[in-house]
Amino acid sequence: MYNLILFGPPGSGKGTQSELLIKQYGFKHLSTGDLLRKEMKEGTPLGMQAKGLIAEGKLVPDEVVIGMIRSAVEAHPDVPGFLFDGFPRTIAQAEALDALLAEKDAAINNVLFLKVNQEELIKRLIGRAETSGRLDDADPEVQRKRQEVYTNETLPVAAHYAKAGIVKDIDGEGSIDDIFNRLAAAIGSLG
Ligand code: AMP
Repeated sequence: MYNLILFGPPGSGKGTQSELLIKQYGFKHLSTGDLLRKEMKEGTPLGMQAKGLIAEGKLVPDEVVIGMIRSAVEAHPDVPGFLFDGFPRTIAQAEALDALLAEKDAAINNVLFLKVNQEELIKRLIGRAETSGRLDDADPEVQRKRQEVYTNETLPVAAHYAKAGIVKDIDGEGSIDDIFNRLAAAIGSLG
C-alpha cells in the first residue's frame, strides 16, 4: 500500500489535485470535508453535530473525524492506497491515523505539501466562494478563522511527519496541469 497525504492550507488546491491524482493512480480518495458535507446533506446526527462548527470555520472533534476515517479505511481493504485530503488536521488525528495504518502493517509513505502564497490563497477562496455554494467559503470572517485554525492546529502536523523525513514541498502556484505534473513527478520519484 502507498498512502499519501495531500497537505496545505484552505484554498491550496487539495481538492482539485486529489481528483486528478486518484484518476492517475487509483488511490481511494478520503476527504473528511467531503465526508462531513455528505453527512450534513443527508441530515444524519453526525452531520447535524458538524454543521454549526463547519459554518464557524472551527474543527469538528477529533474523535468524530477519526471514527469516520477508520470506517472508510476498513470499508476499502483492497485499494492500492489512500489519498488523505483535509485529514489529519491535528496532531491527535495524525497519531490516530499512524496507529490505524500500523494495525494494517501500513504507514503514511509521503506528505506532499502544496505551497501557495497568502495573497493567492485569498484570491482563490474568493473565487471559490462564487461557485462552491459553501457557506464557509462565503464569509470573510469564517475564512479568516479557518486560516487561523490551520496555522495553530494543522501546521504542526507537517512538522510531525517531517520528523520521519517524508514531507515534500510542492510549488502550488501556476496552472492546474503544472501543479499536477509536479505532484506526479514527486510521487514517481518517491513512490
Ligand atoms: P475542507 O473541505 O477540508 O475545507 O473542510 C471543511 C470543514 O470541515 C473544515 O473547516 C472543518 O470545519 C471540517 N473538517 C474537515 N476535515 C476535518 C478534520 N480532519 N478535522 C476536523 N474538522 C474537519
